[in-house]
Amino acid sequence: SYFTELGLAKPILRALEAKGYNDPTPIQRQAIPALLEGRDLLGIAQTGTGKTAAFSLPSLHRLAANPKARTPRGCRMLVLSPTRELAAQIADNMVGYAKYLNLGVQTVFGGVPVGKQISALGRGTDILVATPGRLLDLIEQRALVLDHVEIFVLDEADQMMDLGFIKPLTRIAGLLPKQRQSLFFSATMPNEIAQLGKRFITDPVKVEV
Ligand code: AMP
Repeated sequence: SYFTELGLAKPILRALEAKGYNDPTPIQRQAIPALLEGRDLLGIAQTGTGKTAAFSLPSLHRLAANPKARTPRGCRMLVLSPTRELAAQIADNMVGYAKYLNLGVQTVFGGVPVGKQISALGRGTDILVATPGRLLDLIEQRALVLDHVEIFVLDEADQMMDLGFIKPLTRIAGLLPKQRQSLFFSATMPNEIAQLGKRFITDPVKVEV
């Protein structure tokens, strides 16, 4: 099958063409139609399966279909990643997929000075990719609000647990708007990860690759 059969908007198909991607990977084939409908998703998938595009492409489609002005210190889509390397990689990919759309992507992670991140968030962004600790710092410093999040993605939940992010994640869960689409990814799904997932996703479509 081809990307052109999945219902994605033209500018997104053009960006895929520019990258030379013709065929969706199995997770993309399974996840994209459900995500375009606004369903929540539970994805059991490792890095290398194409999961970044699986969550990015339908999200970009939905954000672009319903354009909104940026809200100061706000974002419409929040992607949480356990490490700065992964956050930077996700943001990089999303910038490529959004090449022909009028949607901005910003990244925040720890281990670097916070000042630039605070000023960059001042005008708000469409998509924010973040690590959990720095995200909470920015919220506590009143540099960021989560009230406008429409799409929430938690990537690599098992790594999040291993890195001790359970507390920040639980706090973040309480700050997100109730009305939203949520996507939850993990390479493995032991009981404690499934329990964490329940805090974020409702009646999800389950995809395992
Ligand atoms: P990910 O699992 O999201 O880290 O993606 C793994 C790699 O596959 C990344 O380098 C992507 O850019 C690439 N990729 C994702 N989807 C496709 C696709 N449908 N066709 C070819 N390459 C892809």
